[in-house]
Amino acid sequence: MAGGEFDLIRKHFTRMAPSGILGVGDDCALLPTAPGAMAISTDLLLEGRHFFPNVDPEALGHKALAVNLSDLAAMGAQPSAFVLGLALPSIDDAWLAAFARGMYALADAHACPLIGGDTTRSVSGVMISITVFGTVAPELALRRSGARVGDDVWLSGYTGDADLALRLLSNQFDPGIPAERRQELLMATRSALEWPQPRVALGLALRGLATAAIDVSDGLLQDLGHILAASRCGAQVRVDEIPRSVSVASLSPDLARHCILSGGDVYELCFTAPPSVRQQVLAAGVQSGAPLSCIGSIVSEPGLSIVDRAGLPLGELPRAGYDHFA
Ligand code: ADP
Ligand code: MG
Repeated sequence: MAGGEFDLIRKHFTRMAPSGILGVGDDCALLPTAPGAMAISTDLLLEGRHFFPNVDPEALGHKALAVNLSDLAAMGAQPSAFVLGLALPSIDDAWLAAFARGMYALADAHACPLIGGDTTRSVSGVMISITVFGTVAPELALRRSGARVGDDVWLSGYTGDADLALRLLSNQFDPGIPAERRQELLMATRSALEWPQPRVALGLALRGLATAAIDVSDGLLQDLGHILAASRCGAQVRVDEIPRSVSVASLSPDLARHCILSGGDVYELCFTAPPSVRQQVLAAGVQSGAPLSCIGSIVSEPGLSIVDRAGLPLGELPRAGYDHFA
């Protein structure tokens, strides 16, 4: 993208770096190193796979950074800065301006500046790769491996809405449902899919309280399963205690369960903590503006059992979440 490339970077992705940081414009960015550890995470978003070609570019800019900040949140890390890799089939200034607006708004909200990247022409479609850097003391980092028998299992916010919106947008929805009803459901759930809010403040507040944490990107059961595998334990989840939005609650019980338990793109935190710190966990939720629900407990028997209100195990379960190679 010779010629256009440098213009594009100057116009859309160059801002004064905060003092002490060398940002866009040199061969490397220089980010001062803080004591403790640097938390690093990267995510790749492909057109047609992770987002629709016609998605609102402002929402896309927001989400591309949000999913990365969510990984920092899940580790209890404080965001420091990020870099942006961008492959574009052509230069569309209006699209880029909107993309940058959505991305910078979230970056500013978390004091996480863009300090570099790479830009190239793609063979087909848009590809976005963001890498975020954050800081956390290694002994306070929220790992997946720390859950202990007897711990509570907690979830922030709701799951299910993003999955419902995705089903509606990709027409994987009962055609028997009238168009106005589908439109209504989409209006209520679309922001969960397109504007996820990473739980950074909650992750920070949970340091020293949570024994393990993960952000729900591929489905609650699958992601909780990663904690269980890493912690070598099992869990009992009380499905009726998983909160649901009015939209999800209005679906058939089967579909609602599927959205809640297996729906991806959620970016809420699922974490474990001993019952002795319940009050502090609830206070961390209030302090960080994240509604929290205690949805189950960690048990020694491996595996995940889902029980209903009466404590009876559910039979057939929508177990698997998202897997790119399945
Ligand atoms: P180099 O060829 O040395 O890798 P580039 O010409 O690719 O450098 O980029 C020039 C400068 O612009 C670098 O500082 C790089 O970090 C920055 N940059 C390139 N693309 C982006 C982008 N998409 N977002 C932010 N900064 C970018
Ligand atoms: Mg380069």
